[in-house]
Amino acid sequence: PISITPLDSDPSVKVVVRIRPTVNIGIGDETVKKVSSDTLCVGGRQFQFDSIFDTNTSQEDIFQSVGVPLVRNALAGYNTSILSYGQSGSGKTYTMWGPPSAMFEEPSPQSHKGIVPRIFQMLFSELEKEQGMSEGKQFNYQCRCCFLEIYNGQIGDLLDPTQRNLEMKVDSKNALSLENLSEEYVTSYDEVTQILIKGLSSRKVGATTLNSKSSRSHIIFTFVIESWCKGTSTNGFSSSKSSRISLIDVAGQDRNKVDGAGRHCLRETRNIKKSLSQLGHLVDALTKEPRLGKAEVPNRSSCLTRLLHESLGGNAKLSVICSIYPDNRNNSETLRTLRFGQRVR
Ligand code: ADP
Ligand code: MG
Repeated sequence: PISITPLDSDPSVKVVVRIRPTVNIGIGDETVKKVSSDTLCVGGRQFQFDSIFDTNTSQEDIFQSVGVPLVRNALAGYNTSILSYGQSGSGKTYTMWGPPSAMFEEPSPQSHKGIVPRIFQMLFSELEKEQGMSEGKQFNYQCRCCFLEIYNGQIGDLLDPTQRNLEMKVDSKNALSLENLSEEYVTSYDEVTQILIKGLSSRKVGATTLNSKSSRSHIIFTFVIESWCKGTSTNGFSSSKSSRISLIDVAGQDRNKVDGAGRHCLRETRNIKKSLSQLGHLVDALTKEPRLGKAEVPNRSSCLTRLLHESLGGNAKLSVICSIYPDNRNNSETLRTLRFGQRVR
């Protein structure tokens, strides 16, 4: 029912790199250089991606490149995802959500508002426009969302912090669900904003020396849009569409030596490492062989992989945003992030 043209020509996986500004520009950031719109040079080695965004990129630039196509594809019926990947302190959270206070700012190019709130602002504006134009056709839609966190292999409900260890259930049709996960129906951008702020404020954070608030959990915000266009045929519903938007901010895969990590933290790091490596493998497999989307994911796979399997396979479009912190001391983390990006591209 939506009149926007689908972006069939869009690649199923798109990988962009964003280089965050450093406080003391010039200290070591010459090791990472944008060579052209799609080429990056790190320590003399060149890497190609779909786009490179350097330190003066605005939140609006990222939205135009990644967010606008996502909304179009979602409205056209694709399952769409964004994966924010990179070391702690590289700007993953800033790019995705922006500071909570910025969610209420107008989306001017100067605003710090992240890509996720901008996406929902555009999405609701498009849905309302479509409804306004559909007199007689009776276009209607319903949206619902959930927000979860994976910490040390346990799944917590960010919208109900009393639920810290949700159980995964697989039904006879092999569909995965989470018992007791809250699901909220939303009808406007303002309602989504409230949910995002509530969820983000219950996220687990742990201290590392790189960034005292660096997050040690993966978070996934899932949003489902169902729409109907009624009345154009004699027997009622003429068409319906359903699509899912998955927005994923992963934990930083950081060295643990620099944290002076205790035992608990080491196990945490190992869990993060394992889940990110499995995720890379999954995306890699889905890109090379999209039909694998139908294949089973082994039960011993990490929660992250199992939950994302459905969102990433089949009729789906994924954008990966690799965040880079351009400082000499971070070179090995930078290379690791870029290798992940290259692997899934
Ligand atoms: P991560 O989620 O990868 O650990 P954050 O998003 O928390 O990193 O970013 C670390 C710090 O750097 C935050 O204070 C954030 O506001 C700031 N920051 C990151 N990227 C940018 C940017 N492009 N412009 C301005 N500030 C940024
Ligand atoms: Mg973060």
